[in-house]
Amino acid sequence: MFEIVFLGTSASAPSIHRGLPAQIVLAGEHRFLVDCGEGTQRQILRSGVGFKRLNRILLTHSHLDHILGLGGLISTFASWEEMSEIEIWGGKPTLDRVQKLLYGVVLDYERLPIKIHLIELRPTKLMEAKDFTVSAFPVTHRGQGNFGFIFQEKSRRPFLTDKAETLNLPVGPERARLVKGETVTLKDGRIIQPDMVLGETIRGVKLVHIGDTSRTDNVTEFVQDADALVIEATFLNENVEEARAFGHITAREAATLALENGVKTLLLTHVSRRYRERDIIDEARQVFPNTYVVRDLDQFALRRDHPVEKKVALHSETDE
Ligand SMILES: [Zn+2]
Ligand SMILES: [Zn+2]
Repeated sequence: MFEIVFLGTSASAPSIHRGLPAQIVLAGEHRFLVDCGEGTQRQILRSGVGFKRLNRILLTHSHLDHILGLGGLISTFASWEEMSEIEIWGGKPTLDRVQKLLYGVVLDYERLPIKIHLIELRPTKLMEAKDFTVSAFPVTHRGQGNFGFIFQEKSRRPFLTDKAETLNLPVGPERARLVKGETVTLKDGRIIQPDMVLGETIRGVKLVHIGDTSRTDNVTEFVQDADALVIEATFLNENVEEARAFGHITAREAATLALENGVKTLLLTHVSRRYRERDIIDEARQVFPNTYVVRDLDQFALRRDHPVEKKVALHSETDE
């Protein structure tokens, strides 16, 4: 199961209701902060998630609306929180800028009580946990070194206890080995194959996060069959040329990407204050009905065999 909490959902500059881009992905005991726009640390507190175990930060690209919050957040971590190490992942241009921000301005390197690892992203798997993997893939936006992320839960086959009982399978390490797919020879000489006690494969959920992007045609293989796709919708289709000029896409283009690639739920973010939220929703839903334009502090849960579920947000504005 994954959960995603949107901390900031505005493009470029904040509005009264929307902060700058940041979201937290929760996966078991792991937490990932994806982007860190200005004001993120207060939104983390407001969201109720808190700072604990928030020691992995993934950055989509180097633009200031996605990274300026790192200054305040890292300063707080260094002064107040018991966090000894933090990983910041990004493309080369992003890390160069983060380096300048943190070491040129924010931190007195000599007294730094927190170890910061700046890790360059490659278009490959960056982490493998017991139940899921996280991968990065290249995205086209202004400048180089822009990335999207795939959070992929592993498929698994449930252990069928009733079948195990019928076979008189002892409780113990043999069961764990069968779950891993190994064949087991019991003390009485019987050979038990995994297929004898495991059910049908249950696909793991897939969450794809794309930050700012000017193209959708080169990310289709990565968003394929995502249970939820988070992607920008900075412009409406009436301003498609402007979108292209500034390295962005429109709500209609995001919705078309979702429709053509088996995405189940579309979560649009990075919205401009020049538009009404309702107009962005309407444009996207004409193409892909299961679309949300997310708001600050919205939360969504992705579970195996369940539709993506929106959890109760902490606010209740009806429109902007
Ligand atoms: Zn942006
Ligand atoms: Zn950008």
